[in-house]
Amino acid sequence: MKAVQVRKAHELIIQEVEKPRISNSTDVLVKVKRVGICGSDMHIYHGTNPLATLPRVVGHEVAGKL
Ligand SMILES: [Zn+2]
Repeated sequence: MKAVQVRKAHELIIQEVEKPRISNSTDVLVKVKRVGICGSDMHIYHGTNPLATLPRVVGHEVAGKL
Protein backbone atom coordinates (compact mmCIF):
# COMPACT_ATOMS: atom_id res chain seq x y z
CA MET A 1 0.00 0.00 0.00
CA LYS A 2 1.08 3.59 -0.46
CA ALA A 3 1.74 6.17 2.25
CA VAL A 4 2.84 9.80 2.19
CA GLN A 5 5.82 10.40 4.42
CA VAL A 6 7.35 13.73 5.40
CA ARG A 7 11.07 12.96 5.60
CA LYS A 8 12.08 16.43 6.75
CA ALA A 9 10.61 19.91 6.51
CA HIS A 10 9.47 20.68 2.96
CA GLU A 11 10.32 17.17 1.71
CA LEU A 12 7.74 14.42 1.27
CA ILE A 13 7.62 11.17 -0.66
CA ILE A 14 4.97 8.63 -1.62
CA GLN A 15 6.27 5.22 -0.63
CA GLU A 16 5.21 1.60 -0.54
CA VAL A 17 4.67 0.34 3.02
CA GLU A 18 3.60 -2.99 4.43
CA LYS A 19 -0.15 -3.45 4.93
CA PRO A 20 -1.02 -3.20 8.65
CA ARG A 21 -2.16 -6.35 10.43
CA ILE A 22 -4.86 -6.79 13.01
CA SER A 23 -3.21 -7.77 16.28
CA ASN A 24 -5.92 -7.00 18.88
CA SER A 25 -9.63 -7.75 19.06
CA THR A 26 -10.32 -4.00 19.13
CA ASP A 27 -8.35 -3.26 15.92
CA VAL A 28 -10.00 -2.59 12.59
CA LEU A 29 -8.49 -2.51 9.11
CA VAL A 30 -9.93 0.29 6.98
CA LYS A 31 -9.56 0.43 3.20
CA VAL A 32 -8.75 4.13 2.86
CA LYS A 33 -10.52 5.89 -0.01
CA ARG A 34 -9.82 9.55 0.77
CA VAL A 35 -7.57 11.49 3.15
CA GLY A 36 -8.01 15.11 4.14
CA ILE A 37 -5.09 17.47 4.56
CA CYS A 38 -5.29 18.83 8.09
CA GLY A 39 -3.67 21.97 9.42
CA SER A 40 -1.47 19.83 11.63
CA ASP A 41 -0.25 17.95 8.53
CA MET A 42 0.72 21.31 7.02
CA HIS A 43 2.61 22.24 10.20
CA ILE A 44 4.44 18.90 10.04
CA TYR A 45 5.31 19.52 6.38
CA HIS A 46 6.56 23.01 7.15
CA GLY A 47 8.54 21.75 10.17
CA THR A 48 6.63 23.97 12.60
CA ASN A 49 4.90 21.28 14.71
CA PRO A 50 7.02 20.94 17.88
CA LEU A 51 5.28 17.67 18.84
CA ALA A 52 5.94 15.85 15.55
CA THR A 53 8.97 13.65 15.02
CA LEU A 54 10.27 13.07 11.50
CA PRO A 55 10.15 11.06 9.36
CA ARG A 56 6.40 10.64 9.75
CA VAL A 57 3.51 9.27 7.70
CA VAL A 58 0.89 12.02 7.50
CA GLY A 59 -2.83 11.98 6.78
CA HIS A 60 -4.87 11.16 9.89
CA GLU A 61 -8.28 12.36 8.66
CA VAL A 62 -9.44 9.43 6.57
CA ALA A 63 -12.59 8.08 4.99
CA GLY A 64 -12.85 4.48 3.93
CA LYS A 65 -14.67 1.20 4.33
CA LEU A 66 -14.23 -1.90 6.43
ZN1 LIG B 1 -6.41 16.82 12.00
